Amino acid sequence: MSKLPSPSNAPPIDPAALDRVAAALDPARLSRNTPLAPFTTFRIGGPADLLFEADSADALATAIAVAREVGVPFFVLGLGANVLIADKGIRGLVIRNTAQHAVWHDDGKVWVESGTIMQKLILEAVRRGWSGLEHYVGIPSSVGGAIWQNLHFLSPAPERERTMFIAEVFHTADILSEEGERKTVDKDYVNFGYDDTVFHHRADIVLATTFQLEKGDPFVMHRIMQENLSWRGGKHPWLDWHPSAGSIFKKIEGVGAGRLVDSLGLKGYRVGDAQISHIHANIMVNLGSATSADVIALVKHAQKEVKEKLGHELEPEINFVGEY
Ligand SMILES: Cc1cc2nc3c(=O)[nH]c(=O)nc-3n(C[C@H](O)[C@H](O)[C@H](O)COP(=O)(O)OP(=O)(O)OC[C@H]3O[C@@H](n4cnc5c(N)ncnc54)[C@H](O)[C@@H]3O)c2cc1C
Repeated sequence: MSKLPSPSNAPPIDPAALDRVAAALDPARLSRNTPLAPFTTFRIGGPADLLFEADSADALATAIAVAREVGVPFFVLGLGANVLIADKGIRGLVIRNTAQHAVWHDDGKVWVESGTIMQKLILEAVRRGWSGLEHYVGIPSSVGGAIWQNLHFLSPAPERERTMFIAEVFHTADILSEEGERKTVDKDYVNFGYDDTVFHHRADIVLATTFQLEKGDPFVMHRIMQENLSWRGGKHPWLDWHPSAGSIFKKIEGVGAGRLVDSLGLKGYRVGDAQISHIHANIMVNLGSATSADVIALVKHAQKEVKEKLGHELEPEINFVGEY
């Protein structure tokens, strides 16, 4: 999915099939030809044929079942923090997951629907004195996106200087499987790796997740959050001002993709309104009206320069979605 996209030659979708999907969904939460840029952190992306907002795990499962039954392609969008949506948009049904019901248990387990925003969940966990999620503060993500990607963070603090993974607090997930079955799966099934889970390889969808947290001291958790946010704020462009999708290239063990790009003096290099950030060479920012074509041209330029001058292959980390 993270290879550069080739021009789409998929046949157009039968409008009658789209109408059948639309007829089965709540019209109050459905729109047509809706631009997707506002629903991504890059602020880039053309329209969805159909955009449905799923505000519960049941609504998410129903929308997927309908699309599968009618044979219309669908895409589940979380917070849109790890995607580059094509300028032509996405054909078929886009389901924006805003399901965020939570059930807190006395033993530190919390069951949350997969559209829950991590930021909101972290604050509530800290307020209740449950530790384990606070390390991921400042990383834009829904719970579903975090599980899909095995969200991770290299902690800057000396006493915990290591990469932490969301897998460490994962207990189980309620999924709608590729075969259409609703079931609860454990860590073995999810098969967490670095930037990898079973969900990259099977069309299963995470409907909800149970995390196992531990009793913690809220003051320590607040300290960790302040340290992590300050570290992040100093190293990364600020999302509110400079939209991005985070790291653009996969890490290269022992070398660092950003370091390679930086060593060639490419910080600040622009194609249209897409720019290699001045402060982080592995992040591309949208200066206002960048298109996905601008970003792809910039990605290709960085790949070509690094390959020709340094001999390394840069592989994109973000997901290219839609009709290119
Ligand atoms: C400024 C910035 C900083 C970042 N820093 C980090 C970082 O430190 N560490 C890190 O790991 N990542 C980082 N990222 C990347 C991003 O935050 C994560 O990849 C995040 O988990 C994406 O979640 P999302 O909800 O936005 O997913 P989306 O971008 O909406 O979707 C990503 C993929 O997940 C799939 N998906 C979403 N929800 C579900 C679901 N319920 N079931 C199945 N599949 C689903 C989508 O279909 C898509 O293929 C950063 C991004 C930004 C913009």
